[in-house]
Amino acid sequence: MSVLMSRDPVTRAFIDKIESLAGQDLLACYQCGKCSAGCPMAKHMNLPPNQMIRYAQLGLMDDLLASESIWMCVSCLTCNSRCPKGVRIAEVIEVLRQMHLRVRKDHMDVRRIAPEVLRELPPIALIASMRKFTS
Ligand code: SF4
Ligand code: SF4
Repeated sequence: MSVLMSRDPVTRAFIDKIESLAGQDLLACYQCGKCSAGCPMAKHMNLPPNQMIRYAQLGLMDDLLASESIWMCVSCLTCNSRCPKGVRIAEVIEVLRQMHLRVRKDHMDVRRIAPEVLRELPPIALIASMRKFTS
């Protein structure tokens, strides 16, 4: 029996959902690491982009959905442009965020950010963060 066939139904469903919503073939990734080498946010991530893809291949749902990395990603698409296999990593990460947002689970509460911090943030930071909130 293949590794894929031996996976439990919940794990298989999680992998299928990512591939379907992101429109990606996760097994195309051969872990070259070029996505993480170019990611401007990798140093702030507990799982850099190549590891997120590896975890997605393995269906490690709890680890992925609990990861800070999916919220650290700023959707700059550098990883997508660097991947020699055409894997669109940013879309995979967007799907992982959507799995939270579709059940109305915000990662952070803007109302809890101190006004002095908000005043210092560049407008683009706030605009880009909108896709990370449920409302
Ligand atoms: S889209 Fe996200 S994961 Fe990809 S390079 Fe930019 S910050 Fe990193
Ligand atoms: S660049 Fe592409 S093939 Fe290389 S590790 Fe990242 S997703 Fe995988």
